[in-house]
Order: sequence, then structure tokens, then C-alpha cells
Amino acid sequence: ESFNSAVAAAAELNAFIVTTPDHALAAADAADSARADGKDMGPMAGVPIGMKDLFATHGVQTTAASHILEGFKPQYESTVSQNLWDAGAGMLGKLNLDQFAMGSSNETSYFGNVSSPWRKEGTNKPMSPGGSSGGSSSAVAARIAPAATGTDTGGSIRQPAAFAGICGIKPTYGRCSRWGVVAFASSLDQAGPMARSVEDCAIMLGAMAGFDPKDATSLQMDVPDWESALSADLKGKKVGIPKEYRMEGTDQAILDSWDQGKAWLKDAGAEIVDISLPHTKYALPAYYIIAPAEASSNLARYDGVRYGLRDLPEGAGLQDMYAETRAAGFGDEVKRRILIGTYVLSAGFYDAYYNQAQKVRALVARDFEQAWAQCDVILAPTTPTASFPLGSLENDPLTMYLNDVFAVPASLAGLPAMSVPATLNEDGLPLGLQLVGKPFDEQMVLNAGLAIQ
Ligand code: GLN
Repeated sequence: ESFNSAVAAAAELNAFIVTTPDHALAAADAADSARADGKDMGPMAGVPIGMKDLFATHGVQTTAASHILEGFKPQYESTVSQNLWDAGAGMLGKLNLDQFAMGSSNETSYFGNVSSPWRKEGTNKPMSPGGSSGGSSSAVAARIAPAATGTDTGGSIRQPAAFAGICGIKPTYGRCSRWGVVAFASSLDQAGPMARSVEDCAIMLGAMAGFDPKDATSLQMDVPDWESALSADLKGKKVGIPKEYRMEGTDQAILDSWDQGKAWLKDAGAEIVDISLPHTKYALPAYYIIAPAEASSNLARYDGVRYGLRDLPEGAGLQDMYAETRAAGFGDEVKRRILIGTYVLSAGFYDAYYNQAQKVRALVARDFEQAWAQCDVILAPTTPTASFPLGSLENDPLTMYLNDVFAVPASLAGLPAMSVPATLNEDGLPLGLQLVGKPFDEQMVLNAGLAIQ
């Protein structure tokens, strides 16, 4: 009965593209028998999680929320999802997202918008759960799933976590294998957990992460026991406050919650220091060159031959089939990214755009390297605004892109970064705070998050 009411609630939010109750029940049964037999149980034993529909799941439709992959049932399992099943978790279903993880509001899915369970006080307009992991944030915030996977290329775990009042961590680039994750921008894509607490994120990230020989950029490092080392005691730690993140256009309530966060970390024993990340303002424009460039190359594989949709009009040749399939299969935002990507990579513009953006990326990474001489972790807002009503930014891609202005620098630098719920704004909507750590120092990020949550 509770499963059915959860399914009804999920249907209203449109958080799931498909549900897989048998998968979750089998994991619960396996956990029960293991417990009865006194066997060792995995850290996720019996936990029913939601799986962002960007992870390939064996025999279960995997679409990246795009028409072009509709009906695609992989013959393989992504490493991250396999790691979770090996740890005892089960799958409630595949979660909706922005198409190919491109978006910040979950309005670019072929399978329809996802709405957040949150409402502005006194109104009933459906609000955005953020994106691209909006099915994940919505399902966890609505208590339909205790946890879900997300992926973050330029904020897609942290921004939806902030909008929905939950926790989400993007680990250091390379911690979680990208094998079997539908590729968006390969030098940026990272999987991570989204859950209600920092503790749950620590446990689930531990289960997801690990070296994978099938991913050439996978980190060849042991996965620490983040959960056992959790501590909200920050004595002797320095928290950096980047002055460039005080940007025009940021809501006052966000700035207030940032001050509140500083006070909480001080109470936990940390020292607060001012730092500078001088190239911050160039990060977002560089991201919107690099990410579409990589996407245009990654998405070349959807040709009507190898996966999902094929549009083959009567008497059409091969070129027509490619063109028709891609025209019918990709959504507008995906097409926009492919156009930008192929443009910035074209012979005439490569140096002016793509090469320049790569140089900016190196400068953004160097800003952080220099900051680590002064601090152990950085505290900043996750987003410049709270969630907005669905539809309100639909025709304004530039404002939409601004959502990730605070999230993108850590992505370009490959650093671990987390969003934790901080306060509510004047409309009763959640605001998140972001913690950014040194490479491989997820522990510091989680500990500072624990002191805030
Ligand atoms: N919103 C950003 C974009 O549209 C980030 C997406 C992501 O992290 N997957 O590219």
C-alpha cells in the first residue's frame, strides 16, 4: 500500500521515467535473508534507491531523457550502479533528468518536466527541482526514495540538491567510474550521491566510488572510509571565503545564509579566512564552450544505427537517415549545444574559442591551487537564487545558465564539492551552501557539511 501511494506521488512529480519495484524488492529480500543467516551485509543492504536515467542498467530502458534513446535496453550495467548492487542496494526505477543532462531546471526532458515537492509559501505553482538531476532531487525531497544517484558536469548534483533542500556531493573527478554513464562532457562528468543527510551521502559515495580499469580517467586510489571518519569538529581547520563569489544578482537571502554558514563553521571550531579566486567570472563562459564542445563529439554516436531511434524515410540514403534521426531524436537544448560545440571546434574558430576556454580552465584550476595555501575548504553559496516556478525561464537560456555560476569553477578544476541545506528564504524555499575541497579530500568537504547540516 505504501509502495502504491509512493508511486502515485512520484507520478505527480514525474520524477521517474520507469519504475522497477521488483529490483528493489529483490534487494530487500536478499538483505532479509543475509540478516537471518547472520551473513555480512553490504553498506547499502536493502536500501531502495533511485537511479538517474543516465546510468546504463542491464535490460532496463536507459534514455538520458531523450527520444533518441527511447527503447534502448543496455546489454551491460554501469560500474557505479553495479557497485551499488554489490553493496546491497536495490533500484526503485530510472529517474527523470534534463535531456543528456543539459539543463538546470528539468524542463528539457523528452518525458516531461519534473516538479519539486516544494512550493512558495501561499502558492501552488509547480517549482523546478533544479537540474539536470531533478528527478533525483525531487524523489529524495518528496521522501519517495531515501537516496538517489546524480551526475554533475557543471553543477547538476549540487544545484538540484540546493533547490530541493537535500544533500548532494560531486566527488573528485575520477573517483566514480564513468563507464556505462551516458557521456555529456567527459572531462567534467562525475557521478555522486544525493540523499537527505551528509551521513547518507558518505555511506553511498563509499559504495559508488573506486578504481575501474574500464574508465581511462578513473582514479587509481583506495576509497577511504568516509563514514567512520565523519566529524563536525573543525578545530584547527581554515575555511576560505572567496570574495569573487559576492556577485551582483545574488539574492540577499543567499548572502545572509552564507553569513549564517560562516557562523556555524566558526562555532564548530574553524577559522574563517578571506581568499581570492580571481578568474571566477570567466569560469561560466569557459564552461559553456568546453562542455558543448565535448558534447558535440560525444553525441556523434547517435546516428540511427547503433542505439534507439531510427528515422528512415522511404527511399532515403544514409545521410538522410542520420539527419532525420538526429532532427527527430534530439531536443532543442541538445541541438543548441551541438551547434555551439561544433562551431567552437571548427577550424576557423578553434583558437578564438576552444583553445582560449582551455587556457581559462587552467587559470581557474590554478586559482584553487593557490587558495589551498590559505585554507582547507571553501564555503560559498550553491546557487545565486532559490528555485523558480517551472516555465519561468524557459525562453531565457542565458539566465538559466547563470544558475551554475557558483558550481562550475569546482567542476572545471575537478574538485570535490557538496551542497548542504542551510536555511529557508522569505518564500519558505530551501537554500543550499556549497563546500569545495582539495583534490581527493572529500572527507573535509563532508565534515564541514556535517557542521552545517
Ligand atoms: N546546468 C549545466 C548545463 O546545463 C550543468 C549540467 C550538468 O552538470 N550536467 O550544462
